[in-house]
Amino acid sequence: MSEHVLGIIGGTGIGEGFAQRAGAERVEVDTPFGKPSGAILRARVEGVDCLFLSRHGEGHLLNPSTVPYRANIYALKSLGATQVIATGATGSLREEVSPGDLVVCDQVIDKTHQRVSTFFDEGMVAHVELSEPFCGRLRGVLLAAGKTVDGRVHDGGTYVCMEGPQFSTRAESLLHRSWGADLIGMTVMPEAKLAREAEMCYALVALPTDYDCWRPHDAGTDRGALLREIMSNMRRASGAATALIERVIRDIGAAGAVQCDCHDALELALWSNKDLVKPEAMEKLGVLVSRYLGNGD
Ligand SMILES: [Zn+2]
Repeated sequence: MSEHVLGIIGGTGIGEGFAQRAGAERVEVDTPFGKPSGAILRARVEGVDCLFLSRHGEGHLLNPSTVPYRANIYALKSLGATQVIATGATGSLREEVSPGDLVVCDQVIDKTHQRVSTFFDEGMVAHVELSEPFCGRLRGVLLAAGKTVDGRVHDGGTYVCMEGPQFSTRAESLLHRSWGADLIGMTVMPEAKLAREAEMCYALVALPTDYDCWRPHDAGTDRGALLREIMSNMRRASGAATALIERVIRDIGAAGAVQCDCHDALELALWSNKDLVKPEAMEKLGVLVSRYLGNGD
């Protein structure tokens, strides 16, 4: 195994073709939080062990509320991932963020309410820092690589994560703009929170596929034409995101071992008394906490 294990969580249309080209093996993983969205594709690319996971599963059957976020992050962690790059389709809340661009987000407003957003919901308590929900170091790697790919890559953006699966009302869309948000999507949370709890660097490449409903459609555009436009933007952004990720893998392979604060995120966050944590909680969360609460240290 290389010193780098990179997890890549693909939103719609990202990852599969890439993994197949790299001759990936399918790895079936089970976790204390159930099965992940699907088999993980493992391939060695440019000296980096890559783990590809399709967030919505084979055939895109899992909606944003039912994606097994905890199982996905736990599975990547248990296979050795130390950093994760995620992609996800979004709607744009800003005129200047055009459909087809890429956005390396830096902030999130979490409006989800039907998802378990922590590994530490029973038997142990942890409060991780989240003022910067994405890894600044990994964002920097993405932005540097972004200078080499065709298309526009925005540095920073606030992502509103809504429950869905319906899209926003116009009043909500205008409200999100008034909050200063730039993108609306349905999947970055709790993924980013769980990655922090799992002490992995995590960064998101958002793919705006259309403008959210704050912006009226051009008069006379029918629904068929709109859908074709969205799909075309999706393909353009997916192509750019794939090129970006390929470049990042090369850069990560060339960079050598990395140290990052993300890898010690639990150091000051575990508030439970080690002597009172029950064995079943330790067994369930061992992959995440054994270096802090394991026996004999
Ligand atoms: Zn990091």
